[in-house]
Amino acid sequence: TDQAHIRNFCIIAHIDHGKSTLADRLLEFTGTVSKRELMAQTLDQMELEREKGITIKAQAVRMRYTALDGEEYELNLIDTPGHVDFTYEVSRSLAACEGALLVIDATQGIEAQTLANLYLALEADLSIIPVINKIDLPSAEPEKVRQEVEDVIGIPKEECILASAKEGTGTQDILEAIVKLVQPPKGEVEQPLRALVFDSHYDAYKGVIAYVRVVDGQLHQDERVVMMATGSTTDILEAGYFHPRLISAGALTTGEVGYIATGFKNVKDCRVGDTVTLPSALTRVEPLSGYQPAKPMVFAGLYPVEGNDYPLLRDALDRLQLNDASLFYEPETSGALGFGFRCGFLGLLHMEIIQERLEREYNLDILATAPSVAYLVTKTDGTTMEVDNPSAMPSFGDIEKIEEPWMDISIFTPSRYIGTIMDLVTTRRGTYKDLKYIEAERVLLTYSMPLAELIIDFYDQLKTRTQGYASLDYSFGGYHESDLVKLDILVNGVAVDALSLIVHREKAYHQGRALVEKLRGLIPRQLFEVPIQAAIGSRVISRETVKAMRKDVLAKCYGGDITRKRKLLEKQKEGKKRMKIVGNVEIPQEAFMAVLSLG
Ligand code: GDP
Ligand code: MG
Repeated sequence: TDQAHIRNFCIIAHIDHGKSTLADRLLEFTGTVSKRELMAQTLDQMELEREKGITIKAQAVRMRYTALDGEEYELNLIDTPGHVDFTYEVSRSLAACEGALLVIDATQGIEAQTLANLYLALEADLSIIPVINKIDLPSAEPEKVRQEVEDVIGIPKEECILASAKEGTGTQDILEAIVKLVQPPKGEVEQPLRALVFDSHYDAYKGVIAYVRVVDGQLHQDERVVMMATGSTTDILEAGYFHPRLISAGALTTGEVGYIATGFKNVKDCRVGDTVTLPSALTRVEPLSGYQPAKPMVFAGLYPVEGNDYPLLRDALDRLQLNDASLFYEPETSGALGFGFRCGFLGLLHMEIIQERLEREYNLDILATAPSVAYLVTKTDGTTMEVDNPSAMPSFGDIEKIEEPWMDISIFTPSRYIGTIMDLVTTRRGTYKDLKYIEAERVLLTYSMPLAELIIDFYDQLKTRTQGYASLDYSFGGYHESDLVKLDILVNGVAVDALSLIVHREKAYHQGRALVEKLRGLIPRQLFEVPIQAAIGSRVISRETVKAMRKDVLAKCYGGDITRKRKLLEKQKEGKKRMKIVGNVEIPQEAFMAVLSLG
C-alpha cells in the first residue's frame, strides 16, 4: 500500500477501560475477524492474560477500511501491554505508530495509567484521539469526563468521541477519526532499510518472529538482514502481516507493520527496540533511537519444591526466556532451599506471571522467596557490586554505602483519601512531591518512594485504604543512598538464608518483631518447640516460639466425620506441596512471603 493510505495506531487506556473490547469492535466492523472468531478475545491470546485482564504481548493487526471519502486504507492496530511493569514494551509499540486512541471509561474518568500512557504517547509524538467508552452504562458521565479531558489533558472536549465498545456505538466515528487525524507514515522508500522491532515471539518452526515497523526502505523474503544492536544476521524466512493470524506477503514496504520470521533460536538475538537493516547499509544508516535492553527491577529465588525437579525448572526457564527477553535467571544455591535460580523480573506482576506459567504450563511446584530489589553496594575497599539477594549482602563492616532504587509514583484519588494515602506513603519512607486538583474532588498526588517499599504490599494497601478508588503508576527515579541493615531470621537456632531481608535501620526493630510474630502463625507446630528469632548481625532483636504439637489435637481432628477428615487430609497434602524442611522444621511457602504482608 502507498504510504498515504496507511495509518498505524494503537489503543492506550487504564486497565479495564475497554481497550480489548474496542479492538474487537474495530476488527469486527472492518470485517477483519468475524464475530464468532472474536469469541476467544483475539488480541488477548494467552489464557493468563484473559484471566488477569491484561495484555502481556503486544500484537499488531492489519485491517482494510473503506472510509467515507471512498478511499480504502490499510489500518494497522498495534496492541500495547496494559501494565506498568511493561512500560518499555509500551514505548516501543508506540514508536511504531503515528496515532493513539486514548480510551477512558465514562464511569471512571482519567486514571493513573491513562495519564502515564498518554505521556508516553506524547513523547512518541503521536496524534491523540480521546474515546470516552462505556457510555451505555447508567452510571456513565460522559460530559464530566469530557470536561476532564479538556482540563487535564488539554484536548478540546469537542474532540472526544463517545463510544460503547460493548454495543458498537461510535465505532465508525473512531475509524473515520483515525483516517483523518492520524498522520500517514513519513519514511523514505528509496533509503536503505530500517525497521523497528517492537515485539517478538518464539515459534518452534520459524524461530523468532519479530514484529516490525518498516521506517525506511523495504524488506523481502530470503533477503539477508542484520540486527544493529546485537549484530546478529539472518536470512528472512518469511515476511508478512497479522490478520490476526500470520499472513505471508513476501515483502513489507515503508510505513508498513508486520512480521519477519528470522530463524533465530532465541529472542536475545532480536531484541525489542533493535533496528533491522541490510548488511550493505550497516555503516550508512543510523539506528532508530531508544534501544535499551529491558532491565529487571525485582528479584526472587525460585526453587523446585521437589529437589529432583531442578533440571525441569531450568528447562522451563530456558523455554520461557525464548519468548521473554526481559526474564533473567541464573543458578543460585540456598542453604535452606537447595538448588534453584535467582530470577529478575520487570516488576511484581511479571514475577507472578512467570511463576504461574511455570506451575501451569510446566507442571512444576515452585517455592518463591520474597522479592527483593537490586542494591548498589560500595565496599570500604572502593569496589562496587550489585546485590539482588539479601543473603549475598557483604558483611556490614565491609560496606561503605548502600544505594537503593527509588521510584517516582503518581496516584489518582478522590480527595477524601489524601490523608490516609499520605500516611501510607510516609510509613513507606516516601517523600511528597506534588498535589494537583484534577477537579473539585479528585487529585493527582506525586511522591518518591524506595522500590523496596513499593513491592511490599503497597498496591494492595493503597486499594484497601481507598476502597479501590485510587490508581497507581510508577517509574524508575534513580538510586539513592540509604541507611540499610540486614535482618536475619533464625528458625530453631539456624539462620534461614532465604528469609533474610534488607530493611531500613529505623524500621528494623518493628519489622523484625512483626515478621517473627507472623512466622509463628505460619510455621506449623512440630513435635518439639521451635524458637523463631530476628537478628541484626549477632544481636537478636525479637523472639517468638512455636509451641510443640499436642498429641490430642491430631486425635480430635481424626475423630470427626469422614468429609471433614478428607478435607483435612487434602489440605495437608496441598500444604505439603509447598513446604521445605529446613534443619528439622517444616517451613511453608507462606513463610517466605510473610514479609510481603508486613505493611
Ligand atoms: P482493557 O483492560 O482495557 O482491555 O478492558 P476490556 O476490554 O477487557 O474491558 C474491561 C471490562 O469492561 C470487560 O468486562 C468489558 O466487557 C467491559 N466493557 C468494555 N467496554 C464496555 C462498554 O462499552 N460498555 C460496557 N458496559 N462494558 C464494557
Ligand atoms: Mg485488555
